[in-house]
Amino acid sequence: MKLLDIITYGHPTLRMKAADYHRDEINHNFIDDLLNTMYEKDGIGLAAPQVDVSRQVLAATDLQNEYILINPKIIAHSESSTVDIEGCLSIPGFQANVSRYDKIVVKAQDPEGKNFEITTRGLLARVLQHEIDHLNGILYIDRAEPGSVVRLTDDPNNEGTIHKPVLLKELQSHFKERYHSERQTDFQRRTPLEIV
Ligand code: ZN
Repeated sequence: MKLLDIITYGHPTLRMKAADYHRDEINHNFIDDLLNTMYEKDGIGLAAPQVDVSRQVLAATDLQNEYILINPKIIAHSESSTVDIEGCLSIPGFQANVSRYDKIVVKAQDPEGKNFEITTRGLLARVLQHEIDHLNGILYIDRAEPGSVVRLTDDPNNEGTIHKPVLLKELQSHFKERYHSERQTDFQRRTPLEIV
């Protein structure tokens, strides 16, 4: 199993709508790598576009079971929503408050190409909404409650993490620099489909 490279905010693939993942394209090694990368990076969800593969497939866990959803669609949701903290492996070092439906019903295919439906609430419902957004080029900061974005830094006195409120503009300039210094050559070298 491989550890896949996670692209960060500013990379164009994160803003593309991912293409349907056709049954005859499904690559089990890639799905194993996606799950493995999610666990290795201590994530609870990872969508293929985050590893520069613009296809409709995501991995998620509710810390008990793991889930692979291919071509997922939210077909129903509760009227009620809850605001909670979210972060993203593609926007490391930041968090924000995001409102998500409490309960959703998702239609998808499994790695064998079989259709299934999942009704879920709480943490997994939140994770799936976050990851399905990735498949549509949407990031959690697009849905963040106004003024709730914070930058996380280590307290120099070793007393935990400092949550410093930041403007979206500051977050953008933070990643713009990183992207241009670390990611540009990587992006130029690889095509989004090379890994599939
Ligand atoms: Zn994310």
